[in-house]
Amino acid sequence: MEEIGFLGLGNMGKAMSITLLCHGVNVTVWNRTHSKCDELLDYGASVAKTAAAVVKKCKYTIAMLSDPSAALSVVFDKGGVLEQICKGKGYIDMSTVDADTSSKISEAITSKGGSFLEAPVSGSRKLAEDGELVILAAGVKALYEEAHSLFDIMGKKTFFLGHVGNGAKTKLLVNMLMGSVLAAFSEGVLLAEKSELDPESILNALDQGRFANPLLLTKGISMIESSYSHAFPLEQQLKDMRLSLALANEKAVSMDVAAVANEAFEKASSMGFGGFDFSAVHEAVKDLSIRRHID
Ligand code: NAP
Repeated sequence: MEEIGFLGLGNMGKAMSITLLCHGVNVTVWNRTHSKCDELLDYGASVAKTAAAVVKKCKYTIAMLSDPSAALSVVFDKGGVLEQICKGKGYIDMSTVDADTSSKISEAITSKGGSFLEAPVSGSRKLAEDGELVILAAGVKALYEEAHSLFDIMGKKTFFLGHVGNGAKTKLLVNMLMGSVLAAFSEGVLLAEKSELDPESILNALDQGRFANPLLLTKGISMIESSYSHAFPLEQQLKDMRLSLALANEKAVSMDVAAVANEAFEKASSMGFGGFDFSAVHEAVKDLSIRRHID
């Protein structure tokens, strides 16, 4: 198989590149903080000094970066993707960004003769390790087809959603729903506690009905125990809430529920929970509830 480039070895990128390596794919990696590449050497990865060097070496390069500014920087800055992308090469950005960012990258890659696909993912680090992500691809169909074997390694299901921007918007919509439901769920856990009900029994009852949901069950337990992992950092959920509200604004859609949920995520971040799992929104829901009832 062709050598594949991988840019960005954070929680997700590291797990995804290791999954590719474990399936026999030859991978050349780059990360802004170079020391994070070392661990990948044990899995047989090659390491490059710049993103441009990865693109020069590889026909296909995947990126998994934190946010729009990181995604733009890796393409446009010195030593970036644009310096080496050319006809015959494909660039696949799997980061969660807004459609505008994705379109800027697509135009720049295309203007150099390369082909572009956005392919944000639903899932978690654990699902990335297990090759069980859901991949929301959009852009050049031919590149989608060429990269399908890689998506089959990293994910359990890949959707092709049409033109660039559709993948980004779909991902933001999914995360807006997830954040809004989680914030409402947190209020339910708090109300159960204040009503002297056993929240765990409520979780178990929910789990047996039509609202059964593995995400809510595990996040509910974290909320009850006020013990939060680092599974999906609240800061990333907040980024996705902000970007989805900006999309709603652009499309003149009122998202009152999501806007209130966003306030809770903003509050949790200001309370220092940004690096914890997004279920830590519960700490803000508790705090906001106390403040509103004192005022
Ligand atoms: P992360 O652990 O914070 O890693 C972020 C990566 O982006 C790191 O490699 C970081 O490099 C790089 N980066 C940040 N700013 C940069 C810049 N200005 N220039 C170059 N590189 C930069 O994030 P993650 O959890 O892997 O998430 C990656 C993407 O997947 C995000 O868009 C997130 O929303 C999405 N996502 C995450 C999850 C999840 O469960 N975590 C699930 C689905 C989707 P350094 O190492 O040098 O900081």
